[in-house]
Amino acid sequence: MITRRTFLAQSALGASTLIQLAPALALTKAATNGAAPAAVDPALLARARSLLEQAPLIDTHNDLPTMFLELSAGDLTRFDLTVRQPTLCADVPALREGGVGAQYWSVFVESATQKTHVSLHEALREFDVALRFIRGTVGFEQARSADDIERIRAAGKIACLMGVEGGHMIENSPAALRVFHELGARYMTLTHWDNIDWADAATDRPEHYGLTTLGKQLVREMNRLGMFVDLSHVSADTMRDALHTTRAPVIFSHSDAYAINPHPRNVPDDVLRLVRDNGGVVHVNFIRPYVSPEGQAWEDKRAAALRDLRGRLADQAVIDKAIADWEKTAGPARADIADVADHIDHIRKVAGIDHIGIGADFYHAEESDMTTGLGNVTRYPYLFAELLRRRYSDEDVLKIAGRNHLRAMRQMERVAADLEHAEAPLITEDKVK
Ligand SMILES: [Zn+2]
Repeated sequence: MITRRTFLAQSALGASTLIQLAPALALTKAATNGAAPAAVDPALLARARSLLEQAPLIDTHNDLPTMFLELSAGDLTRFDLTVRQPTLCADVPALREGGVGAQYWSVFVESATQKTHVSLHEALREFDVALRFIRGTVGFEQARSADDIERIRAAGKIACLMGVEGGHMIENSPAALRVFHELGARYMTLTHWDNIDWADAATDRPEHYGLTTLGKQLVREMNRLGMFVDLSHVSADTMRDALHTTRAPVIFSHSDAYAINPHPRNVPDDVLRLVRDNGGVVHVNFIRPYVSPEGQAWEDKRAAALRDLRGRLADQAVIDKAIADWEKTAGPARADIADVADHIDHIRKVAGIDHIGIGADFYHAEESDMTTGLGNVTRYPYLFAELLRRRYSDEDVLKIAGRNHLRAMRQMERVAADLEHAEAPLITEDKVK
């Protein structure tokens, strides 16, 4: 069972083992890649900042609720989000500096909890802490709709929404799904790292080859409720099944393009075309192993080196030391702002400008796992300055920053309004027994 944290740690990209990108390497990259700018043009940066003020900028993935539970067991008195908090992945001043107008906070519980049947219990702790910090922080307000996002933004506050990162958290219960929606969840990622009873994950072995019958029923129930079906983390077959089942636009809350980096977490081109036809939005991720065009090749080389060491050595401590030495020699897979922009270029080429958004995936205070130059929530304007440098129009920037998401959300809400009374709620619990 591999979680994201384990994956990052095993990839030498966790906080404890990261080797910082050497400046010399960055220069090599800039020198060999004509797309990489030597420095940010201050005029483009100023234009990017002013566009983000208008957009609004909507980020669909940040793990602050989990950080609160890990660092303070949910005791919010230890952190005041209205001032800078260098040990957290977000606070109000940093979000404002980054131009963020709306943030989806991730309700995340490890998928291993499905084995011990505590996923729903742990999910409630995540909802509780998220709702408490949203309501307890001056400058935040909970949003439940696209109209709410615009109203809260116009009032000078940051609109806060929640997304459930993993279908295991409903423990196969449509009733739990409905209660999550009632609490304010506006997307559910169908899986996290591992398969669940009704859907395959990207990073597990094929088991259902997509969605089961219950999985398809739950997608339809999410349409009826007015909750985005989020296809980050799911297998390509699950993506295709969900796109053929849904009546509303879907999102990828934090995913990149497979053609640029063939990582199983990223979105293949045929699925990008389905997203175009569906009216959905792919929100690009800033985490280095998903962004870097060398990311998957680096993982494969490291796995081969580890297999070789395990074949020759028995002592785990010696193996650990040897793989650490290998990582020092190899250095981390490179990723910079131009690489994220390359993913955006590709999604634009295949799906179109109307289907791109932002879902950075900040999940701890370390910048090391993130793309160089996009290490924390203040840095969004630098990505948009790079897009402007690539001749994206003001309108293009506004769409990517948030207007595509608002359009998809309004369409999702219209579908729900139509279905609310036309379809009965999904009830499965009696049949299970
Ligand atoms: Zn994730």
